[in-house]
Amino acid sequence: MKLMLKEAINSVDYHELVDLHEDLEKGGVATKQLIKDAILAKEKELGKLCHVCQSELDPNSTHNYTLLLGPEGLRRKASFCALDCLKYFLSDMEQRQEQLKKKLVINPEMKDG
Ligand SMILES: [Zn+2]
Repeated sequence: MKLMLKEAINSVDYHELVDLHEDLEKGGVATKQLIKDAILAKEKELGKLCHVCQSELDPNSTHNYTLLLGPEGLRRKASFCALDCLKYFLSDMEQRQEQLKKKLVINPEMKDG
């Protein structure tokens, strides 16, 4: 079962919430580490499936590819079972950016907001 952040926070024990709030007041070092660890664990899990066709990746295969996307600190990882899936992903991304550019040309005010 996947919980949204609000649901997850609502299901946390009162004392844990007070500790969490205290940590956030002090800069959130423990909370940041907790979230970082959870992201790494999820990425490890996501890295086991092809981003495009969802087939299971063989960790020993030399036909797997992994892309790191996004800016430093907000990197996302996407793995692919073969060159075909990687190409599909890239061309899909290219098409989406082209469509976005077209929308920006039609509605130039969208650029700012
Ligand atoms: Zn694939």
